[in-house]
Amino acid sequence: MTEPRTVTLPTIDHGPVTLTCPAWCRGHADHRPDTHRSDILHIGPAVTLTFHGAEVVIACIVQAPCATIDTPGLGGRTPGISMDPPARTLTPVDVYSFAAALDGYADRIRDLADQLDAILAGGHQ
Ligand SMILES: [Zn+2]
Repeated sequence: MTEPRTVTLPTIDHGPVTLTCPAWCRGHADHRPDTHRSDILHIGPAVTLTFHGAEVVIACIVQAPCATIDTPGLGGRTPGISMDPPARTLTPVDVYSFAAALDGYADRIRDLADQLDAILAGGHQ
């Protein structure tokens, strides 16, 4: 077990704010001093789907520990999975549902590839 990591971050509205980072937080190297305390965000490592060098979708665990409100789909004090697109913060149930949709989509584009294969072979003009 590693020691809890604390960080002290400058904020525009509350001065320096000291927080304990969860184990999954990648750190705050990109923190900007003009950040409001409520906008401080713990962010986990990104899980990215890329194809032909283009980013298709990116997901990571996020938590705004000082958020003043929890807005479903936009995050808050409860950790969630930020996914872009659709630029929403999702629950585990949402992410399982998205993964199932991706499985279905993969089947549909394989069917499309099969169809194109047949077209190119002259079978279905
Ligand atoms: Zn953190």
